[in-house]
Amino acid sequence: MASRAARVEIRPVRNGLGLVALRAHRAGDLVVRVAGRPVAPAVLWRWWRTDPRRAANCMRLAAERYLDTEGGFGAFANHSCRPNAALLTERGGLVLRAIRAIRAGDEVTHDYATHLGADDCWTMRCNCGERACRGTVRRFDRLPPATLARYLRLGMIPRFVRETAG
Ligand SMILES: [Zn+2]
Repeated sequence: MASRAARVEIRPVRNGLGLVALRAHRAGDLVVRVAGRPVAPAVLWRWWRTDPRRAANCMRLAAERYLDTEGGFGAFANHSCRPNAALLTERGGLVLRAIRAIRAGDEVTHDYATHLGADDCWTMRCNCGERACRGTVRRFDRLPPATLARYLRLGMIPRFVRETAG
């Protein structure tokens, strides 16, 4: 499966399947628009009980809105503690934009913590392989201070996530 503009495709990567860049990107470049269906929090909570894999592939779009990325690129966008892309809200949808140079053949990753509010108890053991791997992915306000400062500077932590910290 490749996007219309053929910027990424889904391939085997370090952790299962992931998004792999088909061309080079510079910092700031759009990598891919994340397709999906908006769902209300109540739907997501139900899926955590009935279909946790699907729930895990939902991305937070706003305080009370998630995007079900089932079957789309978003479902294959893996986490890294040293990501090369940011998940950003643009024109009401989600996109992945490069935050540093990405070479053709590189896996495109983002940091899941940027969308985990202080009210979010979800955690994930991490196997990203980076030297600075945090071991566990958890809420944004538990990021190492230097990482958090950099993500804030790059606009990677949306307001609805920042506001959960009170
Ligand atoms: Zn990691």
